[in-house]
Amino acid sequence: MKRVLITGAAGFLGSHLCDRFMTEGYYVIGMDNLITGSLKNIEHLFPLENFEFYHHDVSNFVHVSGDLDYILHFASPASPIDYLKIPIQTLKVGSLGTHNLLGLAKAKNARILVASTSEVYGDPLVHPQTEDYFGNVNPIGPRGVYDEAKRFQEAITMAYHRFHNLETRIVRIFNTYGPRMRLNDGRVLPAFIGQALRGEELTIFGDGSQTRAFCYVDDLIEGIYRLLLSDYHLPVNIGNPNEITIKDFAEEVLKLTGSNVGITYRELPENDPTQRNPDISRARELLKWEPKVDRAEGLKITLEYFKSLTEEELTKKEHFSFDKYIKR
Ligand code: UDP
Repeated sequence: MKRVLITGAAGFLGSHLCDRFMTEGYYVIGMDNLITGSLKNIEHLFPLENFEFYHHDVSNFVHVSGDLDYILHFASPASPIDYLKIPIQTLKVGSLGTHNLLGLAKAKNARILVASTSEVYGDPLVHPQTEDYFGNVNPIGPRGVYDEAKRFQEAITMAYHRFHNLETRIVRIFNTYGPRMRLNDGRVLPAFIGQALRGEELTIFGDGSQTRAFCYVDDLIEGIYRLLLSDYHLPVNIGNPNEITIKDFAEEVLKLTGSNVGITYRELPENDPTQRNPDISRARELLKWEPKVDRAEGLKITLEYFKSLTEEELTKKEHFSFDKYIKR
């Protein structure tokens, strides 16, 4: 039985990866420090024989007993609100955490896949973004802690590949959504759905002309699974190229939820990318992968998930605002 270590196992993507690898018949070791993740996402796996969980922060030395075939490094805060609240941990998990896991991969002779991000492209000047675009990142802006940690992560991963011949994979993940996202993580999709469900006005940052392209989680997991098993070590974009403005997206959420709350406009956070859309030619060609779930279908499933949350979870708010980070 192949053994896989998944960091960030209690998070949104990590928990879906645990499910997938369990289904594929792997022995899964989940690891998480539970700062942003929740055990609720993986509690169904605890009774299963082929699953174990380590409560550990991968920014500190990582020890795992026994053999490992694969490591998937998905531990990191991943929403702009989270990395503003915990900037040092964000930098550490992308840098020190990645270093520890590369060391572990080398010691265990395991293949490692690291979760990178479309944020390595920053506020992109090339559109759509191909993997050979170097990006337009402000290292000292509020997003710098995430973007630069992930850029460092890619650099050190390539160094281990080149210097130690380690088997490495790098996935650049674009906006993804689905069940188990935290309703209050600040990202646009849970923010809008939560607001609509609570009967509050939807908050659009800026004029809503900025674009994003949203990938349903099952599609993303399929792409990652294929990339891990491929023999390709350079970065691969995984995302859904169906681009939409945030304003149109707000209208879509209103229609979907049948809500008639209004829209309120807030100041745009500093360095908020104006356009983002993955060029997925590389994934199409190498992995024979492309997304299958369209937004209407994915949003419906996600809405059902958010509706299933308790009243307490639905009304729990993070007391946090971007306001003090707006550049004057
Ligand atoms: N956004 C918004 N209202 C919100 C939350 C986010 O208009 O309540 C905007 C945000 O400014 C950005 C886009 O939606 O332009 C996507 O933001 P998100 O936080 O989901 O992630 P990002 O793609 O910026 O990393």
